[in-house]
Amino acid sequence: MPTTLAELTTLRLGGPAAELVEAPDEATLVEAVSSADDAGLPVLVVGGGSNLVVADEGYAGRVVVVRNGGLAVEADTCGGAFVEVGAGEPWDDVVAVAVERGWIGMEALSGIPGTTGATPIQNVGAYGQEVSQTVARVRTWDRRLRGIRTFAGADCGFGYRTSRFKRDPGRFVVLSTTFQLTLGRLGTPVRYAELAAALGVAVGERAPSVDVRRAVLDLRRGKAMVLDPADHDTWSTGSFFTNPVVPADAVPEGAPAWPQPDGQVKTSAAWLIERAGFAKGYGTQRVRLSSRHTLALTNRGDATTAELLDLARELRDGVQERFGITLVNEPVLVGCEL
Ligand SMILES: Cc1cc2nc3c(=O)[nH]c(=O)nc-3n(C[C@H](O)[C@H](O)[C@H](O)COP(=O)(O)OP(=O)(O)OC[C@H]3O[C@@H](n4cnc5c(N)ncnc54)[C@H](O)[C@@H]3O)c2cc1C
Repeated sequence: MPTTLAELTTLRLGGPAAELVEAPDEATLVEAVSSADDAGLPVLVVGGGSNLVVADEGYAGRVVVVRNGGLAVEADTCGGAFVEVGAGEPWDDVVAVAVERGWIGMEALSGIPGTTGATPIQNVGAYGQEVSQTVARVRTWDRRLRGIRTFAGADCGFGYRTSRFKRDPGRFVVLSTTFQLTLGRLGTPVRYAELAAALGVAVGERAPSVDVRRAVLDLRRGKAMVLDPADHDTWSTGSFFTNPVVPADAVPEGAPAWPQPDGQVKTSAAWLIERAGFAKGYGTQRVRLSSRHTLALTNRGDATTAELLDLARELRDGVQERFGITLVNEPVLVGCEL
């Protein structure tokens, strides 16, 4: 069994865990968390460790590794499919099954690392889809009320890379998530220009979900956004910064601008970082930007969390100085801060 967080995170960073429990089923998961709560021991829930930055000092509490998998089909009729997935099930396996069975709505989320239970936490999204579009229910263990609570998708408070679970950190342990997917061989309309171009369709048109999955995986591999232990460009948390959402007049001239429903505008963190003088590969021998993606901060093998955070601060401060926009980290920081 692993004893350091470095063995549990895709960055391969983080010191020792005081205690570590693997939870292969739901009962063990709830027991591991609630007995720690009874004993006043801090708890860190870990899925695939692909969105976690843990301090070099490690974690002075119980690390509970979520491994309860399984996929239960509640309905698969012409009205659509209802599929309940255990929190520990690897996310990309679920997408692969969906595409194979002709359930649509998550094909553009192919290749995202980590577990299914973590996907509602930050409302995982990529290439024009987000899990909020297909989550029907999230079953949780509420550590404050000490009982099971189920939230309908509409009650999850989903937003861009956020949810009620992320806004109330640590309170809810996701036990399973139920997805509602429509049936068909064509994916949902393609909303992302780069993906549409790769598929040879216009934005808003549809393509076979099998082709969408293949195209997304190809695009992601080209940017080192699919895990590969041999490739240090993937020793990351994916994007380290979210795309900032700012008032329209704060967007620098020439920067990408995606209008939001509330009148604000989302712009590109990668564009800001590059224009502030940090190109792909920027950094040191030990920690640097991926050579294939400006937003991925990578461990080249022997880095420490402290070094990674130094680089993150340098980027954040550089962008702040040049454009007056403060970048916010996407991964969850444990025992450390920017
Ligand atoms: C190469 C790469 C590419 C990526 N690409 C994308 C992308 O395209 N889009 C995107 O949105 N994200 C992306 N990510 C980020 C990451 O994969 C997702 O956020 C993923 O959902 C995290 O899952 P995990 O199981 O690894 O969570 P972890 O990193 O283990 O945990 C993340 C957070 O969720 C909590 N958590 C985990 N499981 C549970 C649970 N069952 N109940 C309660 N809390 C829980 C943890 O305590 C922690 O706070 C990428 C990461 C990498 C390394």
